[in-house]
Amino acid sequence: MNSKILVATEKPFAGVAVKQIREICEDNGHILVLLEKYEEQAELIQAVSAAEALIVRSDKITEDVISHAAKLQIIVRAGAGYDNIDLNAASQKGIIVMNTPGQNSNAVAELALGMMIYMARGKFNGKSGTELKDKKLGIHAYGYVGKNVARIAHGFGMEVMAYDPFVTSEIMINDGVQPAESAEALYKNCDYVSLHLPSIPETQKFVDYELLMKMKKGSTLVNTARKEVVCEDSIMKALSEREDLKYVSDIAPDNAEELMSKFPDRCYFTPKKMGAQTKEANINAGVAAIRQIVAYFKTGDTTFQVNK
Ligand code: NAD
Repeated sequence: MNSKILVATEKPFAGVAVKQIREICEDNGHILVLLEKYEEQAELIQAVSAAEALIVRSDKITEDVISHAAKLQIIVRAGAGYDNIDLNAASQKGIIVMNTPGQNSNAVAELALGMMIYMARGKFNGKSGTELKDKKLGIHAYGYVGKNVARIAHGFGMEVMAYDPFVTSEIMINDGVQPAESAEALYKNCDYVSLHLPSIPETQKFVDYELLMKMKKGSTLVNTARKEVVCEDSIMKALSEREDLKYVSDIAPDNAEELMSKFPDRCYFTPKKMGAQTKEANINAGVAAIRQIVAYFKTGDTTFQVNK
């Protein structure tokens, strides 16, 4: 069918992932166009204008970019969150948007546990720390990442609770996870609260002052979701008023510098978003993205469409 499939990645996929994407693309008669490490939106716009399909990572696909996409039928975000894509603008042009759920969830989950250990051991400062074993972990949103966090946490001997209004208690209990009846119950009872919410209008700033002040004494909030789900003014206020709380995030908040200078022992932010930055997740997500595009062109399969 010879569709032009553009892979536009400001932060490129690993070489081995690109190789596999190209093979699947060409084996199915399509043409792969690579735009890596672009610096200007104009480069993206120019490349998008000739493409029938688009694969991106955290690249911003704004209304402006979409308005230039004359031939585009499908955008696949190689990853879980798709808040970098203007869904309304895509829907208005009849462009299908998909994500690749679950492909990077183990990578993110491992980082969440790694961050817990880092904080439990005083940021590796050489002093006595604490262990994760027998501590209570609260998983806020029990999707692909949340489930992987639960699996790994069980290996550490942690007791696991979860809150997700869209997942049945039965599913959680089957995984050995105690369902929490409310977000408040989770924050009140757990030594670690790990965030795995999507960033959508209903969840933005969900973790506010009131919820933070309900957190168990000596607990740690771990954010490998999105910075937007935590209210930044509230985290500043809560950490100022409660010397027992800690905040660690894979996505530095806008007030990261101030938080780090005021609470250097109780905060940590990765220098760049690292959750999905593993070779394995890169390959999984990239390969899933191209397979989904091939399936869409072949059979009209829209299984992972997010702008229905
Ligand atoms: P997922 O879609 O599998 O799970 C999201 C879960 O959130 C679902 O179970 C859903 O029921 C739940 N949810 C939705 N609204 C909720 C609400 N108001 N209250 C409680 N729960 C709610 O997604 P996932 O793969 O588990 O990823 C979760 C999020 O993690 C993504 O949306 C993304 O923002 C973030 N993420 C970050 C990185 C990183 O690099 N740090 C990588 C991947 C994903």
